[in-house]
Amino acid sequence: MESNHMKLIFDSVSANEGFARVAVAAFMTQLNPTVEEVADVKTAVSEAVTNCIIHGYGGKVSSIEIRCEISGRELIVDVCDSGVGIEDVRAAMEPLFTTKPELERSGMGFAFMEAFMDELQVTSEPNQGTTVHMKKKIGAGMQWED
Ligand code: ATP
Ligand code: MG
Repeated sequence: MESNHMKLIFDSVSANEGFARVAVAAFMTQLNPTVEEVADVKTAVSEAVTNCIIHGYGGKVSSIEIRCEISGRELIVDVCDSGVGIEDVRAAMEPLFTTKPELERSGMGFAFMEAFMDELQVTSEPNQGTTVHMKKKIGAGMQWED
């Protein structure tokens, strides 16, 4: 089974949201994804990175790390920050849950990540940081020759 790895470390500024999603999209092209699959991954990466910037670091500039792996036809994406962390991960992942309603957040980020990816796991430790672990099988709807 073929595998490939990629790691990105960048500043937690909103200018890098677009960079991060395009970088992951570029990395996954080797899997021959559909336009829709690329759009799904970009949305999930954007949501995760925005959360690091807004919630993890509260707007303070620090580092975000993205680790990507291709394993067979699966794309694995980890988005990590060393920010404030999440007290109750299960509650935070509920649709419409947000700790920043004043910033017009709708609390749908995790719900989108869950909807657009095949797997979502969030691990977090208060004052240590948060890791969002996502997986998506690419080309699931295709007929493969082998
Ligand atoms: P939206 O994504 O719709 O703009 P939101 O960011 O509040 O709103 P989610 O992305 O679902 O909604 O996140 C839910 C909550 O989980 C956040 O309000 C925040 O309290 C917490 N959270 C999410 N990501 C992180 C993170 N990286 N660090 C700390 N807290 C986080
Ligand atoms: Mg969010």
